[in-house]
Amino acid sequence: MSHTNIRADLGLRPVINASGTMTGLGASIVVPEAVEAIRAILTEFVEIDALQKVASSVIARLCGAEAGFVTASCAAAITLSIAGAMTGLDLAAIERLPMAAGLKTDVVIQTGHLVGYGGPVEQAIRLAGARVVPIGQVSGCRTFHLEGAITENTAAALYVVSHHTVQHGMMSLREFAAVCHAAGVPVIVDAASEYDLRGFLADGADVVLYSAHKFLGGPTGGIVAGNVDLVRAAFAQNRGIGRGMKIGKEGIAGTIAALEAWERRDHAAVRRREQDIVATWQAALTDRTGVSTRLVADPTGNPIDRLEVHVDPAGAGITAWDLSDALAAGQPPVIVRDIEAELGYFQLDPCNLHPGEETIVADRLVAELDAARIRTDYIATPLDKRRNRRDEAIRAWPG
Ligand SMILES: *Cc1c(COP(=O)(O)O)cnc(C)c1O
Repeated sequence: MSHTNIRADLGLRPVINASGTMTGLGASIVVPEAVEAIRAILTEFVEIDALQKVASSVIARLCGAEAGFVTASCAAAITLSIAGAMTGLDLAAIERLPMAAGLKTDVVIQTGHLVGYGGPVEQAIRLAGARVVPIGQVSGCRTFHLEGAITENTAAALYVVSHHTVQHGMMSLREFAAVCHAAGVPVIVDAASEYDLRGFLADGADVVLYSAHKFLGGPTGGIVAGNVDLVRAAFAQNRGIGRGMKIGKEGIAGTIAALEAWERRDHAAVRRREQDIVATWQAALTDRTGVSTRLVADPTGNPIDRLEVHVDPAGAGITAWDLSDALAAGQPPVIVRDIEAELGYFQLDPCNLHPGEETIVADRLVAELDAARIRTDYIATPLDKRRNRRDEAIRAWPG
């Protein structure tokens, strides 16, 4: 079957993604260079380790690293790089994991970095057979917490850079790395969604991890980059626990192509287009009762601004979360970034739109707000009920 409209062919809803890069929506629009590389390699045999060596040199060049490789996902990259820090190149230990007797097993992490990205980061650590050692509190973490937690059983330290983490009171990467390095502990940075390919290694990370399918617009995959000994030890896990997280030739070739496209991309032009999209949305929502908007910079400094839409139910006749649900339920479905909807707002993210979709999003917003205004009842689903819905959905899948 030739798919000119694969979503319709499969009976899937034509969702428009105004939420950013979300695994549950298929991550990102894969760039044409990666699509072409994937198509070209799918029917060929290759020597995978040689293909990974090509990936290593491209990753090294772009990240300012000694070496790198491609994994199934950033979550897999966390597990494999922790495992590598535990086993080194001990092939017998690699086969024994997640049983870790005789190895260093502790992984220190600031409590405010214990996030979830669809699964808990803490579990990605434990999958290697490691023990999670949270340090400090959600409200703050200081040098003494880290110094006091490092022992001779410490295998690695994990530092998470993400909008999900607590954004105040945490140690800077430089400070964190200085303490770890003084004690001989390697620092692994989870920078899954961060556009900056070089800054974290420059600031003291020994290994940095990215998602291939987020800002890079690659296929589903993860990138490990950094110190050659640690990268090699993580790569060697492909003969152990990494087997269940394997990446195929298409994922590796597609990630190489996405990285090279990233190197050549006119980033300023992409930024301008995204600013135009956000301006379109802001204009559409001007002077609407109960609605106010503001541009917000990305919390971790990625070069992207989102439109925050505040919804006052008294004026709009609907809560922020019910508006989000109405947009997702309607035609065509529009998915907004509603992680913080209980606070009365959601965000519109311009990074994953096809040309012209911004107008559809604006029209849908206006239509849903108009519909809420003419209703006599006030739409306010209890938050607990809404929150539990996703849990109920997975328990009921496939329906
Ligand atoms: C998305 C994300 C991950 C998981 O990345 P995948 O490549 O989807 O496995 C891990 N950490 C953070 C901070 C993320 O944002």
